Amino acid sequence: MNKVKIGIIGYGNIGKGVEAAIRQSSDTELVAVFTRRNPESVVLKTPGVKVVEIKDAEKYKNDIDVMILCGGSATDLPEQGPEFAAMFNIVDSFDTHAKIPEYFATVNKAAMAANKTSVISVGWDPGLFSMIRMLSGAILPEGNDYTFWGKGVSQGHSDAIRRVTGVKNAIQYTIPIDDAVESVRNGKNPELSTRQKHLRECFVVAEEGADKAKIEADIKNMPNYFADYDTIVHFVSEDELKSNHSRMPHGGFVFRSGKTGIDTVNNHIIEFSLKLDSNPEFTANVLVAYARAAVRMNREGCHGAKTVFDVPLSYLSAKSHAELIKGLL
Ligand code: NDP
Repeated sequence: MNKVKIGIIGYGNIGKGVEAAIRQSSDTELVAVFTRRNPESVVLKTPGVKVVEIKDAEKYKNDIDVMILCGGSATDLPEQGPEFAAMFNIVDSFDTHAKIPEYFATVNKAAMAANKTSVISVGWDPGLFSMIRMLSGAILPEGNDYTFWGKGVSQGHSDAIRRVTGVKNAIQYTIPIDDAVESVRNGKNPELSTRQKHLRECFVVAEEGADKAKIEADIKNMPNYFADYDTIVHFVSEDELKSNHSRMPHGGFVFRSGKTGIDTVNNHIIEFSLKLDSNPEFTANVLVAYARAAVRMNREGCHGAKTVFDVPLSYLSAKSHAELIKGLL
């Protein structure tokens, strides 16, 4: 079988993770990496693969089966998603939850017009966690959903802080509140506000002369990202950020606490958790599995924007359907 030919748009943390993930999948190959920066300044780990200016991506329409978009959700993907959906099958990890329906509609329009397939908002949240929330709600219609993140670095939130005026560099940790997690796990069905579930802790390097009070206020009041949480902002030096905060672990828990029965009520807890040493590398592995699926769906004439809810599970696997039902069912 021909390998799935993949292009990467944007070579940041996720872009590097996708490069590594492609090497682990025997049915995928990396054709080229596209960047807005000078291609000579971007050095890949895979020998023989080209780095190309993003404006030349269109020339690769016949050489690439699917583009994996690795830009940031705050400002890159809202532009790059619809732009590349009109030329290629795409997969991305757009994670501004509140804006997903709007983003879906824009990408869908571009992909439908071009007979292409776009799988958006893939990763672990949104992504695998969304899938588990949907699945467990379908199985236990009477019950409550709970999602906790961390402790870990949130790529989306760190990216959003780095775009605040006066910020040179930053990392954001999401921290679940232990008592809240235990209370859910024990089936107590607590009512928890956003603020009672997590803390957000930010380590920020400010540009010289920047107004730190304004930076702090801009972060704490940022809608969709920080406004609904208790947020702690620490200003640190570049050296401190590098030595103490350069790893990117993450993880979290999805719970469904539900009940069944008519005469006797029985309680059930569904718990799915992830403990990730590297958020971008794990997210990239999910993106590559969905890249394979996007190409398969497109070949079957299934066009437009899709999410994890719309992609058949078996399409994610490099194994054939026959192998899957023999080995795993
Ligand atoms: P980065 O900030 O590392 O990269 C974003 C873009 O920045 C790159 O594509 C790159 O584009 C550009 N860039 C500019 N200068 C540099 C530089 N010097 N080094 C590296 N990149 C540079 O973001 P991440 O890769 O960490 O995350 C991307 C998005 O992934 C996040 O915004 C988040 O929304 C999403 N995400 C989603 C998850 C999910 O579960 N759904 C989980 C984790 C992340 P170019 O090459 O064109 O310059």
